[in-house]
Amino acid sequence: MKLSKYSFGIGDRFGCQGSAQLAAFIEAKKLGIEITPVWNKSNREHSTIHTEPDDVRKEADKAVNDANWDGGYFVDADHINLSCVDKFIGPSDFFTLDVADYIGEESNSADVSDFVQKYKKFAGKLSIPGINEKFHVSEPDLQINAEKYLNAIKEAGNIYRHIQSVRCQVSDVSNSPPCEGGVAEGRGGFHQSNNPIIHHSNLIIEVSMDETEKPQTPLELLFILAMIADEKIPAQTIAPKFSGRFNKGVEYVGDVAQFAKEFEDDLAVIQFAIKSFGSNENLKLSVHSGSDKFAIYPAINKAIKKYDTGVHVKTAGTTWLEELIGLAESGGEALNIAKEIYRKAFDRYDELAAPYATVIDIDHEELPKPDDVDSWDSTKYVDSLRHDRTNVNYNQSFRQLLHVGYKIAAELGDKYINALKENKDIVAKNVTENILERHIKIIFAK
Ligand SMILES: [Zn+2]
Repeated sequence: MKLSKYSFGIGDRFGCQGSAQLAAFIEAKKLGIEITPVWNKSNREHSTIHTEPDDVRKEADKAVNDANWDGGYFVDADHINLSCVDKFIGPSDFFTLDVADYIGEESNSADVSDFVQKYKKFAGKLSIPGINEKFHVSEPDLQINAEKYLNAIKEAGNIYRHIQSVRCQVSDVSNSPPCEGGVAEGRGGFHQSNNPIIHHSNLIIEVSMDETEKPQTPLELLFILAMIADEKIPAQTIAPKFSGRFNKGVEYVGDVAQFAKEFEDDLAVIQFAIKSFGSNENLKLSVHSGSDKFAIYPAINKAIKKYDTGVHVKTAGTTWLEELIGLAESGGEALNIAKEIYRKAFDRYDELAAPYATVIDIDHEELPKPDDVDSWDSTKYVDSLRHDRTNVNYNQSFRQLLHVGYKIAAELGDKYINALKENKDIVAKNVTENILERHIKIIFAK
């Protein structure tokens, strides 16, 4: 199974917006931009909201069937590791193997020297087509990279082989053909065709190391890709950490020109790895955007056009915030619910912010008092929350606190879900427009 050239990751915390999200892809297709939707949800989100990976599968299948979407689509087990992957294996066909925590852990010294032996042919002056400057690689550089990353990539191999073996066991039970080869055609594998055969060839593998302190340089990425190839992980996407800050739901903070250079260099490195290491020829970059990185979208668009290559861009909580915007816009009881969520999020700041401490920058001075927010009308709430930096009322601290405050909505249970249902159209309009106008059209525009 090949991931198409352009794919876009959508998160839906409460599982109610699958159709509204897909509507953005349908509109894009009418404009001649074909993008594969990938519904992603991490273990962290599932445990906060008390949902199961199966819920995401059901949502995606239903949205696709209701709309008669004839393109591919996937369900991404986002940021999983060995300790939580099992419940994702059945319902998912895209796996993001998160090995960031293993970076820098001591690698086996025999493995390290094997790696240095194998790749010392790249030592000396190394030129990579598409990158102007020449790299100087020494044997100690190889050693340092192997010590830093080998253990993490070995772990990615362990997770990949575990997923593969579980999927094979299930397929063996159902008397399917052997796992090699598998069903490579169709639109996404057994789930869509209701065929009980589970084939590991139907899965997409991503390796992610974006949740680290320091970005990986293009040269580091090169050696990481060598390790992934050696470990025989058929990764189709790789999510490095780029320089700059990718805070949740708000604008990119960093040097856009530097990001653009790094992104283009990474694309060149991937092409080099495909030729030199036999990496998956469909390999492309995955940008874990944290949503709403409008400043770098034009740079991504320019680079993928220039190199005629694909990209996968993940978003997450941006849809949940559009739900809140829709409720606030509706006024009345729905606006009151949006206000109640802010008040509770404000009161429970420490608890809600803690899991996201490294990916939010909230200025406490900027946070409005809940009593003040209670006096706001629809427009004021919507303007404060909607990510429109030209609006004087836009408040990115307010937005970030609500972004991490989805636990409050989860605790409201039916009260929240019913409000979404009662205001379905206005919420859906916001969800679709946000994905289509602010994300898809800018990133993938022709
Ligand atoms: Zn990520």
